[in-house]
Amino acid sequence: MSSLRFKVVEEASNRKAVPVEIPAERPQAFYGKAVFNRQKMFEYLPKDAYDALVYAIENRETLDRKVADKVAAGMKQWALDNGARHYTHWFHPLTEGTAEKHDSFIDHDGKGGVVEEFDGKQLVQQEPDASSFPNGGIRNTFEARGYSAWDISSPAFILGETLCIPTIFISYTGESLDYKTPLLRALNAVDKAATAVCNYFDPNVKHVNSYLGWEQEYFLVDEALFAARPDLVMTGRTLMGHESAKNQQLEDHYFGAIPSRVQAFMLDLEIECHKLGIPAKTRHNEVAPNQFELAPIFEEVNLANDHNLLLMSLMDKIARKHNFRVLMHEKPFAGINGSGKHNNWSLGTDTGVLLFAPGKTADQNLQFLTFVVNTMAAVHKHNGLIKASIMSATNQHRLGANEAPPAIISIFTGSQLAKVLDLIENTPTDELTDLSVKSGYSVGVAQIPELVLDTTDRNRTSPFAFTGNRFEFRAVGSSANCGAPMFVINAAIADQLNQFKEAVDKRVAEGQELKVAILEEIRKLIKESKPIHFDGNGYSDAWKEEAARRGLDCETSAPKIFDSYLKPETIEMFERTGVLSKKELEARNEVKWEMFTKKIQIEARVLGDLAINHVIPVATRYQSMLVDNVVKLKSLFTGQKGADIVAPDLENIENISKHMLVIKRRVNEMVDARRQANRIEDEREKAIAYHDRVMPLMDEIRYHIDKLELMVDNEIWPLPKYRELLFIR
Ligand code: ADP
Ligand code: MG
Repeated sequence: MSSLRFKVVEEASNRKAVPVEIPAERPQAFYGKAVFNRQKMFEYLPKDAYDALVYAIENRETLDRKVADKVAAGMKQWALDNGARHYTHWFHPLTEGTAEKHDSFIDHDGKGGVVEEFDGKQLVQQEPDASSFPNGGIRNTFEARGYSAWDISSPAFILGETLCIPTIFISYTGESLDYKTPLLRALNAVDKAATAVCNYFDPNVKHVNSYLGWEQEYFLVDEALFAARPDLVMTGRTLMGHESAKNQQLEDHYFGAIPSRVQAFMLDLEIECHKLGIPAKTRHNEVAPNQFELAPIFEEVNLANDHNLLLMSLMDKIARKHNFRVLMHEKPFAGINGSGKHNNWSLGTDTGVLLFAPGKTADQNLQFLTFVVNTMAAVHKHNGLIKASIMSATNQHRLGANEAPPAIISIFTGSQLAKVLDLIENTPTDELTDLSVKSGYSVGVAQIPELVLDTTDRNRTSPFAFTGNRFEFRAVGSSANCGAPMFVINAAIADQLNQFKEAVDKRVAEGQELKVAILEEIRKLIKESKPIHFDGNGYSDAWKEEAARRGLDCETSAPKIFDSYLKPETIEMFERTGVLSKKELEARNEVKWEMFTKKIQIEARVLGDLAINHVIPVATRYQSMLVDNVVKLKSLFTGQKGADIVAPDLENIENISKHMLVIKRRVNEMVDARRQANRIEDEREKAIAYHDRVMPLMDEIRYHIDKLELMVDNEIWPLPKYRELLFIR
């Protein structure tokens, strides 16, 4: 009685690599081919429109409507020349991924025919019928309109035959309903705040950009196996499955040879990325079997994030072409590493200076220290919020498990930078700087270049690590929209820099020399933000205790972690920087709690169904095979001998019953727990009920199912097992 499982396993293991169409040209010839980038703008726009658009982009200004009309005309022509037939505003709603509503270019020509139309109005603003996007109660149904508005800083692109225009998405009353709006506001805030501080050192700095280099981790599973796992199809993760005998113990997958089927997929993906101007650069195997990573060259945050979202949808599409499904879930398999999306983040000036990179002169290093120390201060003040920015129903499985950073935010500096911070903290300013000497400063600050240039020491257990010229925020989940952590971090830094500048200016107004004032403030911040600095092992239990003593946020329950968005200091910070209003924050949290509940609800339902419809029947069938066997054996052997011979079967029969009984009871309890939770009106309380009452039952049910998987005849087990899902041949 060979099951569907054996059929799909065979199908998957016989699969060959799908051939890839490799363009005849080198990447530089087709890179950005599908993007309305500066080169295309220059070609398709009248000079005045081109100049006005570039100026508005570079200075973060709004574009004149007349110019928008000209841009629309040029963009349309380019799109038509490149085979587009539809256009869409492309935005990031508060769900996951991206949203699109396609319109064809055609319009009546008044003579019974059609023309292909696209003007400034359609480019600049659309009103998608968006009442079904989550909005946390901001829009009542009678004003169910949302606007999408063109983001000029991220270039339009053609996907398939559709011109996609990156946009923000806001409510009729102007509240953000997406990730991009607060991100753009935060990038503006950090630009202003950081530029003002940079001007202490260089008056020529006009803008500061924020940069992001994400590293996307993911799993691939053969599509036949995927389809045979209802839990993967419905929830993106396996809700059951016993560990495979071999998983990642040998660490033989990391940087190992990439299987040919996967190579073909990666090559195909890379080519499509390059056409869309996504600078995909690195690809390799990750630690877990079937786990891989793709990283691009870093870009300005807003563009980098659009590229990441675009990449995620491209991956899904291209994986299918290669008979794979890509799993973006943070923890698709228990017992092996999950997937993250490290966010490498930095700030840089329009004069080409990376602000987290130590320089060659004392002045440059004072600037470097200013930015590093202000970052530490901001991360310290808002550590709970930063954790909230990456928390989700899916990422909660990864954080705190011995693989990804713990559910506590701390900063790793490395020993070199730590030495410098100590030096500044413990040396009086007049010994650090000799301002009477025109040539510069004495020992301390001048030594910094040699001290920090060696950044070879790395700490993989730290959620927020200084890595030489940037910070690497490692707690971000693989399925996340990086916009969330990025707007939080950039807003927090902007606010911190504003406070820093105010304090320095006050000292200067009181007669202190500027560089002395800066050093004094840096020293103060080093002292204040000490609790966030931790270079030890973030996975150890000792750290959890230590972190609690230091007053860091140690909350582990996802729905309660979201509370950080509504703490008074958070609301004040977001209001001061103009990134989000209290009303927006409240609405967004409603969405977060609701999404959390829905995810667990779906998982619990799927698990209940699988337990009752798949697992119990199969276990019963196996048990009755054993019972048959016992009866037959007993007819052959009697007395003590008979009893001895049937003993193992009887033990199995009993054990199967025990597991089945627990499963049935817990499934019933889980249904009750859901019913009770569903009656709760308050979204926060409901999410907490799902977290505290439903999730533990799911774990328990799984435990017993996994035990049954080990006992039941392999021939009749219905679902592909971990060892089959996880090893691509
Ligand atoms: P690792 O695995 O050592 O962390 P990777 O090469 O996989 O390194 O990824 C590093 C990522 O960091 C890349 O996306 C890279 O472009 C990005 N990056 C490098 N320098 C910066 C920087 N100054 N700011 C932001 N991102 C950066
Ligand atoms: Mg990395």
